[in-house]
Amino acid sequence: MSCPSPIAFETLLAWWLVELPQADQEVLEEHVFACEHCTRRLEEVAALAGGVRNAVRAGAVGMVVSAPFVEGMKQAGLRVREYHLTPGSSVNCTIYADDDATVGRMRAPLRGVRRLDVLEQVVVGGVPRPEVRLEDVPFDPAADEVLLLPSAAALKKMPSNTLRVRLVSVEAAGDTPIGEYVFAHTAQ
Ligand SMILES: [Zn+2]
Repeated sequence: MSCPSPIAFETLLAWWLVELPQADQEVLEEHVFACEHCTRRLEEVAALAGGVRNAVRAGAVGMVVSAPFVEGMKQAGLRVREYHLTPGSSVNCTIYADDDATVGRMRAPLRGVRRLDVLEQVVVGGVPRPEVRLEDVPFDPAADEVLLLPSAAALKKMPSNTLRVRLVSVEAAGDTPIGEYVFAHTAQ
């Protein structure tokens, strides 16, 4: 099983992040539909991303990805700007025109967590937008880290804003807070 013209990892990724122009998207989908090799690779990208593409489609401000997914982006030659946060901290962040992605790496105690939800709220010019809840996101309980990957295309169009992120452990009794993080984003 091989492909004479395999689709580049970054193209598969862009498709996954819904960042491909419509025409390119159709070409890719036609190819993948007919190519078992590239279908397999697309499944790998999908598995790494944790199947939360629908949240991105729905306009969520960021999706949760695994550490290997971010490694894959870097190995594919993408320019990834990373910000590291501890619970209760905030960071001044930005995205430059030639960045392919930014990733917020939030330290969090995840031991014993069975279901993790991420609540995101963007405040622009002092006006809070509706909170978005990403339910049951993928996480590695041993990693003690949650990686948030916003849509680079959407972020580059955003004015300066503040993104508040709350991680909660979902239990029978309700939400237990794990940590809160603030991304103070300056538009370029
Ligand atoms: Zn192919």
